[in-house]
Amino acid sequence: MSADLPPLRETIARHGLSASKALGQNFLLDEQLLARIAAIPGDLTGRAVLEVGPGPGGLTRALLRAGARVTAIEMDRRCLPALGELDAAFPGQLRIVEGDALKIDHAELMHGEPHAVLSNLPYNVGTALFVRWLGGEAWPPLWTSLTLMFQQEVAQRIVAAPGTSAYGRLAVLAQWRARARLAMKVHRSAFTPPPKVMSAIVHVEPIEMPEGVSARMLERLTEAAFGQRRKMLRQSLKGVPGALEALETLDIDPQRRAETLGVEEFVALARALTPPA
Ligand code: SAM
Repeated sequence: MSADLPPLRETIARHGLSASKALGQNFLLDEQLLARIAAIPGDLTGRAVLEVGPGPGGLTRALLRAGARVTAIEMDRRCLPALGELDAAFPGQLRIVEGDALKIDHAELMHGEPHAVLSNLPYNVGTALFVRWLGGEAWPPLWTSLTLMFQQEVAQRIVAAPGTSAYGRLAVLAQWRARARLAMKVHRSAFTPPPKVMSAIVHVEPIEMPEGVSARMLERLTEAAFGQRRKMLRQSLKGVPGALEALETLDIDPQRRAETLGVEEFVALARALTPPA
């Protein structure tokens, strides 16, 4: 069905899609690698997928070949004709939306339909969306999985275990009501042009949310605790009303530092400070 698509390099040359630094563009052109990335969320046949930042459409092709129904948000209008060719090659499978993914209501865009998210975004946009996808009180989310490319260092922070220097707010955010794993490392040479650092793909799936815990309270605690990560908890949590008493009730030594606290301990603290519904 897609055998007649030209190689990505040719598509990029024909549409004059030189990578824009300002838009954080580093394209993936290896179609075998792209097929492996599209396979990370499992069988996509007939499933709704939200792809953010398709660029010239390398990952989009792989998703369409995997049988997904793709909604793709791209803010660089230069890419739209190349994406239009994919729409023609896979009729009825692709919806292209021009715009800034940070300004779009994704649930509304997806008409409330559960969907997998796949994306290879510039660092700042990717992290902002990640925090949005994993935040908020409503759970489970409409997305069924997130498969996201990050700088390797950020990916390691997301999946980090307590007691490591990478462990912090991102790890707690990603792990308290979701399972996050490092799905694939991607060498910088796989991108055109190659970025300065290595990349890695993180795959996240939601799990049941612990009862009686406000996401906002957990966020407040991790912000205070990791905002002064070298300080003892009795110092860093001083500004959070009731936190020092909660440490005592939960038998958590106030002389410990934030990075030694497991995700469940943060959850227990947040629960103790969350007013009953
Ligand atoms: N997915 C393609 C690939 O893997 O080859 C392109 C990756 S490139 C790193 C990131 C893409 O995201 C670019 O096409 C860029 O224009 C787009 N982009 C950047 N910021 C965006 C935003 N806020 N909303 C939507 N697309 C964005």
